[in-house]
Amino acid sequence: MNRRKFFRDAALSGSGVLLGQGLMGKGPEEQSENEAEVNLMDEVRKYRKIDSHAHVYFSEDSPRVQLDFADRLSIDKLMISVNIAPHTKGTPEQFRKNNDLVIRCMKDHPDRLLGTMVLNPTYQKESLEEIDRCVDAGMVGAGELYNQLKINDPLYYPIIEKLTDLNMLIHMHSAIGYSRVTLNEREPKNISLPEDFVEIAKRYPEAMFQYAHIGGGIDWENSCKVLKDSPNVYVDVSGSNNAANMIDFAMKYIGEDRLLFGCDSSYYQGVGHMFAAKLTDAQRRKIFFENYNDILKKSGNHVD
Ligand SMILES: [Zn+2]
Repeated sequence: MNRRKFFRDAALSGSGVLLGQGLMGKGPEEQSENEAEVNLMDEVRKYRKIDSHAHVYFSEDSPRVQLDFADRLSIDKLMISVNIAPHTKGTPEQFRKNNDLVIRCMKDHPDRLLGTMVLNPTYQKESLEEIDRCVDAGMVGAGELYNQLKINDPLYYPIIEKLTDLNMLIHMHSAIGYSRVTLNEREPKNISLPEDFVEIAKRYPEAMFQYAHIGGGIDWENSCKVLKDSPNVYVDVSGSNNAANMIDFAMKYIGEDRLLFGCDSSYYQGVGHMFAAKLTDAQRRKIFFENYNDILKKSGNHVD
């Protein structure tokens, strides 16, 4: 066996589980050098995708870098935001500046980027005004809201009521250092925990919430169990901590109608674990695209 052939066969056996039917039927001599990769990417390209959790940044290469990942992984639309940095006051000046960047990116790439706004209801009047300003500029939801206030803080009530009147999804960050036993000391005291989402979702059953990134570092098993009976809380599966059976577990507790595909800037992991999970073709379509598009339909902002 020559060296070249050895590498090719080794690569094929390693990726065999992901190969398409056509390739599996051929003998090794009939296969081209990179056919395995091509078939895997055909699977990836087969699904329309809305990244429910994307960010843009105050850097020269943004959003070019994010769009480059999206192009390679066939992500049609990205829900972008610039969250308020943790452990900062989150003044109106800060959130307007962040939203301005999102508006600029949306205007530059209207076919790919959909914007969601950030706010800090500690500044009640300014936040309510900011909703109007951002909706006028074409934004379609709120998020990724951060930990200046918990999602169930009474200061959030008028904000949630306004966004619910607009039929818009409210996307809130969740803890990224929450152990089974105690909250990680680095977490801000106002971090929203799964129990906080349950409470606010019950208070506003007509509102729609997005529980951010179960792959963010939180105890995702606990999160899924706690959110099991909150029908108006969607759960995004993004994050850089991807336990092998996270989506399979979430399917059991949250189910195919409330899970949202997302990357939170971990693009390959975000798409990859959707294929590692045991999902039917219909379930994959829902989580990649349809569930989020159904949310957007409620405000008339759907993409097709
Ligand atoms: Zn987050």
